[in-house]
Amino acid sequence: MNHLAIHNPATGALITTVDADDAASVADKAGRARAAQTAWAATPLAARKACIERFAAAVRAELEPLAAIMTRETGKPIKMSRNELNGLMGRIDFFLGAVDATLATETVFADGGMTEQIDHTPLGVVANISAWNYPWFVGGNVFVPALLAGNAVLYKPSEYATLTGLAMARLLHAAGVPADVFIALVGGAEVGAALQAQPIDGLFFTGSHATGERIAQALGPRLVKLQLELGGKDPTYVCDDANPQVAAESLADGAMYNTGQSCCSVERIYVHASIHDAFVTAFLATVNSFKVGDPAAEDTYIGAITRAPQLAVLEAQVADAVAKGATLHCGGHRLPGPGNWFAPTVLTGVDHSMTIMQEESFGPVIGIQKVASDAEAVGLMNDTRYGLTAGVFTPNEARARTLLAQVRAGTVYWNCCDRVSPRLPWSGYGDSGVGLTLSTYGIQTFTRPKAWHLRQA
Ligand code: NAD
Repeated sequence: MNHLAIHNPATGALITTVDADDAASVADKAGRARAAQTAWAATPLAARKACIERFAAAVRAELEPLAAIMTRETGKPIKMSRNELNGLMGRIDFFLGAVDATLATETVFADGGMTEQIDHTPLGVVANISAWNYPWFVGGNVFVPALLAGNAVLYKPSEYATLTGLAMARLLHAAGVPADVFIALVGGAEVGAALQAQPIDGLFFTGSHATGERIAQALGPRLVKLQLELGGKDPTYVCDDANPQVAAESLADGAMYNTGQSCCSVERIYVHASIHDAFVTAFLATVNSFKVGDPAAEDTYIGAITRAPQLAVLEAQVADAVAKGATLHCGGHRLPGPGNWFAPTVLTGVDHSMTIMQEESFGPVIGIQKVASDAEAVGLMNDTRYGLTAGVFTPNEARARTLLAQVRAGTVYWNCCDRVSPRLPWSGYGDSGVGLTLSTYGIQTFTRPKAWHLRQA
């Protein structure tokens, strides 16, 4: 048996050590999931829904301790941990409300004794290799609809959110999901690699582009359904007619919420030259109001950096930008430990020769670039290999719609940012991934449409 040590990123202290999986235990769990899936699929949808309803009630009842666990192992500020758990309730409500109609058999043709129907059958055994930054959101986006649709789920939480992943398993089992229908796997990259090698019917991955690419290469020849929800370099353009104060307050939050460790964090800001200076002044005032500190404290806004290696990435991006002529207004450096800390950082005078405007930062770091026209802004917004979200601030809806229609992004925002809705599909262009979660499409994606041609004898 392997072991996994779990540390608090805010203090560096060991929280606990848990038993971890190895190749043999992963294979055993995959076999158990396979054996259990058929009976789960045959369980009436109403009974599967009842399990998820009880699960949601249990999460609600344990919200405080669950938030505290997530905060301890990820460094997420406690208020944001509560927000995530409360947000999960809305997502579960959506899935419960939409699943009957989405999975219902459709009769698409009936004439002269010939009937054509579409059935939505479960994929079978699906693997979910997940990320740590919003473990309940990105995990729940997969396991809630996957279980409702009749799949067995092999869930590997990130090694940085293991205790949260084990809590999900405990609560699902207590809610009536059979032990072998939802199985957690504990460990890091090796356990993820062992999981992807199993005879699975779908792999749903949330994480970095580098890991996603590796998984896609390994899985490609096996023709297993693969979804990849990867990173972003999400831009927002503030037009000349926008209110600089309102836009700055919203975008500072969008850039720094969850310590900038959101897949849809605002990662690049373009501001029209005519309001650039007013915007930067308001942006800096907002960032300076963010309290950095103990993630367990109620008034903390900026918590710890979850993964220590990310500190070097942030330092390198700042150094590259400053070396190429950017102006550093605040931060730009680590904060004293113990634990992993980086000061909120704002740079102006940036351009696309700098990694900070090209590669995901995933930290409390933002570059603001001055632009002269809408056309220049659209060109820059599209000048990236990613395409998760993009936004425009302007009071003029027609202008926003015209601009956002030209931007390659799965999600676009008018006068808002860093927002996810369970009613809308979540997907990306380019290196932000393939496939989607959420919305009714995010239920169907865990099923295979089966075509029935039925002729009366
Ligand atoms: P990561 O790629 O380091 O790890 C993700 C998961 O993959 C973990 O469970 C890890 O153990 C596993 N893994 C690592 N190497 C593996 C391998 N070789 N084979 C199989 N599994 C392996 O990413 P992370 O640091 O956990 O997450 C941060 C990234 O996730 C960011 O890029 C962020 O933008 C992205 N993200 C995207 C979305 C989205 O919806 N698009 C949501 C959240 C996070």
